[in-house]
Amino acid sequence: MSTVYSDIVSSDLYTQQVKKLERVAQILSLDKDVVDSLSQPERVIQVKINIKGNDGTVKTFTGWRSQHNSALGPYKGGVRFSPNVTQTEVMALSMMMTWKNSLLGLPYGGGKGGIRVDPKSLQKDELERLSRGYVKAIYNYIGSDIDIPAPDLNTDPQIMAWFLDEYVKVSGKVDFASFTGKPVEIGGLSVREYSTGLGLSVITKSAAEKFMDGIEGKRVIIQGFGNVGYFAAKFIKEMGGKIIGVSDSKGGVINEEGIDADKLMEMKRSGETVSSYEGKKVTNEQLLTSDCDILIPAAIENVVNKANASHIKARMIVEGANGPLTADADEILRKMNVIVVPDILANSGGVVGSYVEWANNKMGEIVEDEEAKKLIISRMERAFSSMYSEHERRFSDYDLRTSAMAISIDRVVKASKLRGMM
Ligand code: GLU
Repeated sequence: MSTVYSDIVSSDLYTQQVKKLERVAQILSLDKDVVDSLSQPERVIQVKINIKGNDGTVKTFTGWRSQHNSALGPYKGGVRFSPNVTQTEVMALSMMMTWKNSLLGLPYGGGKGGIRVDPKSLQKDELERLSRGYVKAIYNYIGSDIDIPAPDLNTDPQIMAWFLDEYVKVSGKVDFASFTGKPVEIGGLSVREYSTGLGLSVITKSAAEKFMDGIEGKRVIIQGFGNVGYFAAKFIKEMGGKIIGVSDSKGGVINEEGIDADKLMEMKRSGETVSSYEGKKVTNEQLLTSDCDILIPAAIENVVNKANASHIKARMIVEGANGPLTADADEILRKMNVIVVPDILANSGGVVGSYVEWANNKMGEIVEDEEAKKLIISRMERAFSSMYSEHERRFSDYDLRTSAMAISIDRVVKASKLRGMM
């Protein structure tokens, strides 16, 4: 009997992901050997990165790239810089990318990378050396037809520019499609910056039309006011929703009159915190369980869990972050009849934006920004409606996460079997 990979490697997020996979495998009647195979990444690369610090010392960092599955195409997924990132977290996130890319019908497998670092502790030139060091260590395993990294937590277009430049230098390949989320000057699309927030708002609107009487006037709370939360707030308001609560890591605010995302962003840029916006001050914990129609956790993993799920008052949760609900929370919310729109659909606007950028680089830069935006919107609308009709046709006894995962896992398994990979 083979050992289940989760017995060898365990971490909260990873174990959660394998649990979710096992649950879906039962529904799809997948054999145990198939589940064992899918729970293990095809390759995990760990590298040591030494950089010369500005204080003259050598600074040593650990980085990873997990390449989970390539049945549907080259690995695709972001790279995060975070002091808490671990190998198993990156592995779990790479598995989620496999499902996300499959669900969206993108020609990609799933990958994810990370460096264990607090980027705030480094000066800009040190950060550049770290970014370049990472690519120098993994360049043999990446490329536009192999594995295409992109931004994730704490990584941005400038870092993608350093990644690309180093890649060109060490590989000798002038291949701009090897990274997405690049600055517009070197093959990026300006829509990529806001595509996750845009996609999230399109999915929120579609779900509100399906499960409520539309987005108009719905009271929305967003946890996290980074790139995703800010743009989601902006677009949801444009679509007619009312943002009544937001937070960042330092705390949040509730204001029933509605919160203006641009005004709040200006305040943040001038050094103020989200909670200094006028309204009732709340902690992150209080924000999550405050009264609203739609809750969008758009910050980090596992924020809705066993301890607080039963106190949720929202009628619908749309997952802006990757893995913000634990498996236990899913169970509790299912019993409470709260609709959960899963991360692999809800936050996939980012990778859809990346896909348009990658295809544009491959084709020789022929897509204009407006066209790219329209492509992303229509792809997201299509993804929602095809996911929902499959849900009704094949998996109506289950929740949306189970349906979304079942659809995407089914595709990966079929492709793997056709290719003779399993
Ligand atoms: N980091 C984003 C995600 O988790 C985007 C990945 C990409 O664009 O490849 O979906």
